[in-house]
Amino acid sequence: MKRTGDVIIVGGGVIGMTTAYFLAREGVHVLLCEQGQPGMEASWAGAGILPPSDLALALDPFDRLRALSGQLFPELSHDLQERTGIDNGFTRCGGLEFIGQAGQADPEEWYGLGITTNFLSDKELHDLEPALAPHLGEAIHVPTMAQLRNPRHMRALRVACAEVGVSIREDTVVAELLLEKNRVKGVRTANEVLTGDAVVVAAGAWTDRLLAPLGCHLGIKPVRGQIALLNPGRVVFSRILLWGSRYLVPRLDGRVLIGSTEEHAGFEKITTAAGIGGLLDLGVRLVPELANAMLEQTWAGLRPGSPDGLPFIGNVADIENLYVAAGHFRAGIQLSPGTALVLKERIMGQPLSMPLEAFRLDR
Ligand SMILES: Cc1cc2nc3c(=O)[nH]c(=O)nc-3n(C[C@H](O)[C@H](O)[C@H](O)COP(=O)(O)OP(=O)(O)OC[C@H]3O[C@@H](n4cnc5c(N)ncnc54)[C@H](O)[C@@H]3O)c2cc1C
Repeated sequence: MKRTGDVIIVGGGVIGMTTAYFLAREGVHVLLCEQGQPGMEASWAGAGILPPSDLALALDPFDRLRALSGQLFPELSHDLQERTGIDNGFTRCGGLEFIGQAGQADPEEWYGLGITTNFLSDKELHDLEPALAPHLGEAIHVPTMAQLRNPRHMRALRVACAEVGVSIREDTVVAELLLEKNRVKGVRTANEVLTGDAVVVAAGAWTDRLLAPLGCHLGIKPVRGQIALLNPGRVVFSRILLWGSRYLVPRLDGRVLIGSTEEHAGFEKITTAAGIGGLLDLGVRLVPELANAMLEQTWAGLRPGSPDGLPFIGNVADIENLYVAAGHFRAGIQLSPGTALVLKERIMGQPLSMPLEAFRLDR
């Protein structure tokens, strides 16, 4: 047996990689195991929408974690760019949340979160975004809504992790968590045993598979999301369009991402005719000019869905040094800096930036 890391992290998605980066920046020796290539699962597939929240006013634990993350994103993005030269595309492009048919937008909710919004009539909507179809109804304008480009963010995290000394083992499946009395002492991979003072399971939709042999069943399940990427060849609109649980995200180069389905299809990570067809219909309905855009790419990702929609952040009951950070469902990118910060604080015995009670594994 060899000593390999102060902290072993299982999973190279946005949660595992950001946590690794934050720990290693403070001198912790981190070993990260990823069964494939880091940053190629849900964290690659996501749309990168970052809704705002205000830490001073947010009361709900989810909103507070989002607000904490929101405070960290500009600095983290800048830091990653300085360190790696990779621009993750973080930008406050603003968003338009439609009322009407989709019916989910509620101005009161934004107001309660301390977020400045304004209500736009159909006409005002067109003045702001002339490419929108007529008669879509009213919308709430959220000027501080932001976005980033997931693949770039993940690439930047990976380079930054390597720079601060994180050892990344690619193509390394963790098959088992190794316990000794009430402590985890490491992990077993196909051909070696890796030991550490603490282990973090950040294995996204796969998390329950690793924890089940310990009798820990969190109920995290894969929830498939499909996305279509269009290239209209020019910038057609510039704000994120939120239509119920689906959306259009305009990138700065004019490309438009249309997402996303929500399907319980196990670990089958495929795109389907019905899934992509429905997204394309929505895209053309909201922005008719997209009918002529090139369909550049389609993909699917597996969100780590948790039973109550909240992530799990904390240690496994009775195993002080075995931590889990998973189950972020549709919000793993937006919650990643806050999750990584509080988890780093917890592991290092530092004062917590926010309470973790609501995210306990045994809640
Ligand atoms: C279509 C789609 C759109 C989305 N849009 C948004 C959005 O706009 N905003 C937002 O905030 N979130 C969004 N999300 C959600 C977000 O992408 C996820 O919540 C987030 O990526 C979860 O990160 P993760 O690190 O927990 O999981 P993952 O990125 O899936 O990472 C987990 C990693 O663990 C590895 N792993 C698993 N088991 C093992 C093992 N035994 N050994 C070694 N490695 C293992 C996996 O290979 C994987 O790389 C979206 C998701 C999808 C699919």
